[in-house]
Parts: sequence; C-alpha cells; structure tokens
Amino acid sequence: MTQMIYDGRAWINGERCSARSEQVFDCISPVDGRVLAQVARCDQADIDAAVAAARAAFEDKRWCGLAPAARKRVMIKFADQLLAHADELALMETLDMGKPIKYSRSVDVNSAANCIRWYGEATDKIYDEIAPTPATALALITREPVGVVGVIVPWNYPMIMAAWKIAPALAAGNSVVLKPSEKSPLTALRLAELALEAGIPPGVFNVVPGFGPEAGSPLALHMDVDCIAFTGSTRVGKQIHVMAGQSNVKRAWTELGGKSPNIVFADCPDLDKAVAASVGSIFFNQGESCNAPSRLFVEASIRDAFLERAQALAPQYLPGDPLDKATVMGAIVDKVQMDNVLRYVASGKSEGAALLYGGEQARTESGGFYVQPTIFAGVTPQMAIAREEIFGPVLSVLSFTDAADVVKQANASVYGLQAAVWSRDINKAVGVARALRAGTVHVNQYDEDDITVPFGGYKQSGVGRDKSLHAFDKYTETKTTWIRIDSPV
Ligand code: NAD
Repeated sequence: MTQMIYDGRAWINGERCSARSEQVFDCISPVDGRVLAQVARCDQADIDAAVAAARAAFEDKRWCGLAPAARKRVMIKFADQLLAHADELALMETLDMGKPIKYSRSVDVNSAANCIRWYGEATDKIYDEIAPTPATALALITREPVGVVGVIVPWNYPMIMAAWKIAPALAAGNSVVLKPSEKSPLTALRLAELALEAGIPPGVFNVVPGFGPEAGSPLALHMDVDCIAFTGSTRVGKQIHVMAGQSNVKRAWTELGGKSPNIVFADCPDLDKAVAASVGSIFFNQGESCNAPSRLFVEASIRDAFLERAQALAPQYLPGDPLDKATVMGAIVDKVQMDNVLRYVASGKSEGAALLYGGEQARTESGGFYVQPTIFAGVTPQMAIAREEIFGPVLSVLSFTDAADVVKQANASVYGLQAAVWSRDINKAVGVARALRAGTVHVNQYDEDDITVPFGGYKQSGVGRDKSLHAFDKYTETKTTWIRIDSPV
C-alpha cells in the first residue's frame, strides 16, 4: 500500500496550526508500524491559545447566542458531514488505532454521527421550568451553557468518545477544547474541519493534540475552563479531579475503567447464545472496551460445557489485517499496550490460572501489534487478571455456587461500570441485577446499546453519565430567577 500522510496540525480558532513550540511527534499505525502523520506536540501555550479562542467565541455569543433551532440545523449538518466522509473517517480510524475497518465503518462513524444528530435534534425540544412557588413570586429555573468545556478522551473509540462529549456540550451552546489521545489524534482533527464546514463558527470547537502531562494537564488545570469532561483510566481520572480542585473548582466529569462481571447461571435461557455473547463482547474491539465483560462467572454445574463451547469459538477471533473487510479482530493500539496485555498473560500463568486458548503475540510479520484471543479458566478472585483492567483480548473465567456467592464476588471490585446476568428465572435475574453495583446491568444479553440511555459507572468507574438527555446536566448550569409579583388582581 502507498504511504499515506495525514495532516496532524492542531485546530485552533477555525484553522490548522503548528504547535507554538514547532514540536511534533510521530503518529504510528498499529496495523503495520508505519508513520501516518507528524502530529503537533501541543503544550501550555497552545492550550492557552485554544482556551482564549473558545472564551472569545463564548463571550461574543457567535454560537450560544443562536436560536436553538439554528444550532440544531448546524449540528445536523455536522452529523451529515460525518456520513458524507464515512469511508475516509473509517479508514483513518482503522489506520490510527487498529480496529477492523468493518467496525470503524459500520459502528464508529455511524454511532458518532448518530450521537451528534441526536443531541442536535434535542436542542430545540428541551423546555425550562417554573417552580411551584407562592403567587407572590415567579421562579424561573433555566439552563445555561457552562462556558468553555475541556474534553480529554482515550484511544479505544476515538470518534465515539469525542462525540459523546462534544455533541451535548456544543448542542447546549458551549465552546469546546478537545484533547484527543496521543495514540489516536487523527479523526478528532478531521471532525473539527467538518464541523467548520457544517457551520460551527471558528473558535467554538478546537482540537489540541499532544501528550497527557503536556497538553491534558494544562487543560484540566486551566483557570478559564469551566468544565472538564474526561474519559480514560481511573489512574488519570483521579488526577483530573485533583486538578479541577487545585485550580478553579471546574466541574469535573469522569468516565473511567471497568472490570465488568458477566454472570451465567445454569438456568440461562440459551447456553449457546450466552457463550457467543460472552466471547464476542470480550474480543470486540480487541478487548479494548471499558465495558468489556472481562470477568466471566460461570455456575459450577455448567462450567465444562460452557468452556468447551467458548474454546471452540475463540479461533474465529484470531486477529487479521484490519483493512480486510472480513477481519473481526484487529491490532492492539501500540506496542506499549500490547506488552501490557502480554504481561497480564504471563501473570495469569504464573499465578496458576489455566490458559485454555491463545496468549501469544500474533501477525509479527506485519510490523504491527497483535495478540491472540485469550481465555483463562480456573481464575481465582485474588489473581491480578481477576482484579485489574487488562484492556486487551483476555477473558478470565471464574466459578460460583449460588446467587449470594456470585453477587459478593462480582461486587468485590473497585470498578462498577457494567455487569450482566443470564438466567431464565425472572426473580433471580432481577434480584441479582438490583444487587450489582454497576451503572448498567444487562439481562440475557450483553450488547444492547443506544444513544437514548445513560452510560457511566459506580465507584471508581467515574462520576457522571454520558449519552441520553442526562448528559446535558454536565454541560449546563441551573439558574434560578426570582421575580416579585405584586398582582393588581
Ligand atoms: P489514559 O487515562 O491513559 O488516557 C486518557 C486520556 O488522558 C488521553 O488523552 C491522555 O493523553 C490523557 N492524559 C494522560 N495523562 C494525563 C494527565 N496527567 N493529565 C491530563 N490528561 C492526561 O487512558 P487510555 O489508555 O487512553 O484509555 C484507556 C482507559 O480508558 C481504560 O481505563 C478504559 O476503561 C477507559 N475508558 C473508559 C470509558 C468509559 O466510558 N467509562 C470509555 C472508554 C475508555
């Protein structure tokens, strides 16, 4: 294939620009190790410029001052722009972070466009409130944009994670400064160009690529940023809350890690479906999903039958060329992450878990970074592979005896993002779902997903919810206006 070079310059105030320092870093494709772009290595000076542009746009009301119906029309055009450039964006996403083209085209582009359209559509359908006060007053409860929103996102679903935040933030009338992951900066930069073409005014949506400590921290610490919306690891998420507190007490919203329990009772309605969903969901996106069902609890009496079927399905997920439309598992985002995953495989083996399938690096001849789908049985709760987020295609299978036992094991985690329970007994399924400490619980399926439902975690999986109308709470202030009424009648 011919060498492709993308534009990696930042996007500030409606135009491309180099980092003030002129520094760049290589954007390396995990597909085959080639350099895709030289990306602006932004730092404090660039963040200052982007925040100043965002503030100026907010103050002169070029975006927040538009009628909601006008903002709606632009947001819908923005969504249409993504679809009009779907092939280009999908290819860029696949080359940049390694996911199969099949999914970047059918899932990532469509889902990001749908999210932008959905929040755009909502813009002129949300009403404010009047409080039930005594007749001597009129109390208006109105929503106002918070101002300048800083957004920091990870690399596993670069466009979707960005869309979940920028769409409600922009729809509500805010200005945005987005810092994409240094491992996947390209589509975010392209989205900013498409947003301008759709009619989002210069300065309203800025994209500043760079590394976490150099570009992310200045954004989270900035005294003129009103809100920071972060998706990433729990380790960095904790620092984001500290930075928000250390600076201007900006609103801080975090979507963090997970180690989601997937509980299969012996009376699950369809064992084959349960196996297929469990295996398919942990290996989807190379296991690089915050909500991946990475802790699988199988009731002891069906354990052998379950594992036999799971092992039989695993070869379907062997990694292939991400640019081949038939591939269902692609490359791990970079060598650092691949080595992390392989370290966890080694730790599982050394702690005594039984390696049922995979565990090796794959496609080494490609020059990229690939790992086989991996299944460990005989995992016990104290092992690292049962407790820590691996963020790779590694399934840890544990066992349990009854509902009380599995709820206790499932909840014994610092995370609380998602969970699943499989049983045909409605009392058991709902009882266990209620007892699980997680932001989302699936019953007899794992993959249902829609922009209309909130997404976020309990415990150290984060603070706040993305998606659905609830997301507007993060990007709006609530104002009360008391009006004295001395009625003549
Ligand atoms: P990460 O925390 O390493 O990085 C996330 C982002 O934070 C990147 O843009 C990075 O540059 C930036 N960053 C790093 N250090 C920073 C600092 N000191 N100050 C400011 N910004 C900093 O996470 P990652 O490896 O990119 O992504 C994987 C993690 O994201 C996993 O833990 C995964 O579970 C989580 N995730 C959560 C959700 C969710 O909705 N809960 C969704 C996707 C991913």
